[in-house]
Amino acid sequence: MCAEPITDAHQHVVNLESRLLMCTCRGCYLLFTAEQAELRYRAVPERYLSFPGFSLGAGEWDDLQIPVGLAFLFQNSVQDRTVAFYPGPAGATESELPLDAWVRIVDANPSLRHLRPDVEALLLRGPDRDHPRFTAHLVPIDACYALVGRLRSLWRGFDGGQQARAAIEDFFARVDRRSRPAPLWPDSGGTP
Ligand SMILES: [Zn+2]
Ligand SMILES: [Zn+2]
Repeated sequence: MCAEPITDAHQHVVNLESRLLMCTCRGCYLLFTAEQAELRYRAVPERYLSFPGFSLGAGEWDDLQIPVGLAFLFQNSVQDRTVAFYPGPAGATESELPLDAWVRIVDANPSLRHLRPDVEALLLRGPDRDHPRFTAHLVPIDACYALVGRLRSLWRGFDGGQQARAAIEDFFARVDRRSRPAPLWPDSGGTP
């Protein structure tokens, strides 16, 4: 974004029109952190949140029409819609999210409203052998892109194969370490 040299650990901003991430120095990053500002670029926050009381039934998951057990959702403020992506051999595949099904899930889990448009994603993970429940995490959107890029190079077959599953485990272990529980959403009447 500018001529300032950047280190390996640096921040990103999202170009709201092209959806591309740009690497930035700290100074440029801070220019784009204002949430209300009408800006073409928006800084990607660094917070990770978990949702300990997250409730999602298998039927509700089916309603979202996501064919694999892992998806990330984000709000596109330019197109005013919520988009779901899931990983696979071609990178991230977009899935048209049935809006009413998603609204029901957010109504049942009001703290999901902490999600900021364009720069954060909700990572939803379905149950498997080692994880009996659905989980949700709010993560910086650049972390999702990094995961998708890694999975694309490892993915084998329909379910990803052993290496992709190991990469997913590794990613979630790091997400768990960095996450703190999401605060209550103000209008949720005390239910997390
Ligand atoms: Zn970068
Ligand atoms: Zn800069």
